[in-house]
Amino acid sequence: MLGTVFGYDHFRDHQRAIIDHLTAGRDALVIMPTGGGKSLCYQIPALLRDGVGIVVSPLIALMQDQVAALGQFGVRAAFLNSTLTAAQARDVEQALVAGHLDLLYVAPERLMQPRTAELLDQVRIALLAIDEAHCVSQWGHDFRPEYLQLAAIRQRWSTVPCIALTATADDPTRHDILERLELADARAFVSGFDRPNIRYRVTAKSSAKRQLLAFLTDGHADQTGIVYALSRRKVEQIAEFLNEEGLPAIAYHAGLERDVRAAVQRRFTREPHIIVVATIAFGMGIDRPDVRFVAHLDLPKSVEAYYQETGRAGRDGLPAEAWMAYGLADAVMLRQFIDQSDAPDGQKRIEHAKLNTLLGYCETTRCRRQVLLEYFGDRLDEPCGNCDTCLEPVETWDGTVAAQKAMSCVYRTGQKFGAAHLIDVLLGRATEKVQRFGHDKLSTFGIGEELTQPQWQSVFRQLIAANFIEVDAEFGQLRLCDASREVLRSQQTVTLRRDPAKKRKSARRRIATEAVGLDNAEQQEIFDRLREKRLELARKQNVPPYVVLHDRTLMEMVKTRPTTLDQMSALDGVGRVKLDRYGQIFLDVLADHHGIA
Ligand code: ADP
Ligand code: ZN
Repeated sequence: MLGTVFGYDHFRDHQRAIIDHLTAGRDALVIMPTGGGKSLCYQIPALLRDGVGIVVSPLIALMQDQVAALGQFGVRAAFLNSTLTAAQARDVEQALVAGHLDLLYVAPERLMQPRTAELLDQVRIALLAIDEAHCVSQWGHDFRPEYLQLAAIRQRWSTVPCIALTATADDPTRHDILERLELADARAFVSGFDRPNIRYRVTAKSSAKRQLLAFLTDGHADQTGIVYALSRRKVEQIAEFLNEEGLPAIAYHAGLERDVRAAVQRRFTREPHIIVVATIAFGMGIDRPDVRFVAHLDLPKSVEAYYQETGRAGRDGLPAEAWMAYGLADAVMLRQFIDQSDAPDGQKRIEHAKLNTLLGYCETTRCRRQVLLEYFGDRLDEPCGNCDTCLEPVETWDGTVAAQKAMSCVYRTGQKFGAAHLIDVLLGRATEKVQRFGHDKLSTFGIGEELTQPQWQSVFRQLIAANFIEVDAEFGQLRLCDASREVLRSQQTVTLRRDPAKKRKSARRRIATEAVGLDNAEQQEIFDRLREKRLELARKQNVPPYVVLHDRTLMEMVKTRPTTLDQMSALDGVGRVKLDRYGQIFLDVLADHHGIA
């Protein structure tokens, strides 16, 4: 089935065990990172078992593409949601009742309608798959009340095997899923969380826009990716800036009209090269496999959120990059946000703890992948060799004296100022503000001239990140805490990372060629032709290009140059139906090129 229908030659991780388990009629909870291959876990059992597999997904905008992708494999799939006209819905219902469907995707609210329930009572159900199952939990940020009603369906279909799937790994969410969906007897399959093809980078923020532009043009030109920013305004500004710089960027946030958002999602899945600048409202359920980068201009909410967002890169297994610019102001602002919120103290403590973990990740001098995986209870014995700290090891320095100077300056100025002013004092700059407060007369005025302004920013950032200095909730001023006193009394030393000065260009270029995975200009040219053909085929059928064939498959064509259908069928991602449909077409492209060369 895996080979003949989907054209893949081996299962990943737990896929086989999950498929066997579900096909045998048992329940399962599947926790797999984004891009891990969750869909096959219910698609294959739905084909193997009698009847139709029902897939509940909250993402109606994407059902159409999922169904189109299955159609390309020769799987009989359809969807029912509010985007269909009455006539279209009737066609689907007829196909369903006539037993002509292998898989039916349904929005949760649709499934709960009496009419749908009645229809489904007339057919044999192979299995129930609940995608994005964490939506049932109030603990996470994607809670959807409709999901709570799915328990009723479970009761109604008590003999139908159920599979709940999510990429969210924490215990409270897992617990909620099992309890609320009444999956007490389900077996849990938790996959390894490593995404080895994603290269992680965190860089100290200086000029975010310029840094982003450098990141995009130097290594990711002509690639597709997502840029995350915190506010709607910033999203719009960045998209505009990128457009002015000649990059194809579009904005996406929850403030846009529904149809504008749908159009962005559509363009994102269909256009060969596009950059979406978005708030976190964008991305759930985005399964474009060739997203080559995810860039964060602001800190995400937690390590979980970071991992989910960055996990949208490189689902096709080819090299991809997760890049983040992070600075002093981010650390200050997020601490303030939490303290200012109306949440009860217990919740604030949890959020501070989550933020500490995230800041710890940003400031780490260890392999980033090791830090991430440890957080998810996974482990990696050796440093990964594919993150910034592995590629360009970070030096550390004894920052105890610098920390003491910074803290004395906080103290002498009355614990009423932010980092910018404190740095002016440390550097001995008699600005108007410094003079107004008489800070040029302080003993700490000019005691920090051995470091530059960016270096002091780095010091303050790290002291705040590690809770050696506190941030005032209301005005963001810095003040001392117990940990500061220990440092001031020399009872505690402070080790700091030395932020690398400037990225070496050559290092970036390397990523660019690796990401494309092609060795020379000739290969690139063939690849481009294959892609042109693919785009043409996709446009004709009005489906996203990757639904026809993945980049990965085209790349294998370039490398192995098949000349027969048989050789073509050996490629990853070429199943029986795709071979029939496209095999010869792509062989012709390859042969043409051969003729010319
Ligand atoms: P997610 O877990 O995020 O839902 P998907 O099910 O969308 O992930 O799968 C991610 C990508 O991996 C898809 O493009 C899919 O075709 C591919 N994939 C899944 N399983 C395999 C496999 N066994 N071999 C090769 N590719 C696979
Ligand atoms: Zn590493």
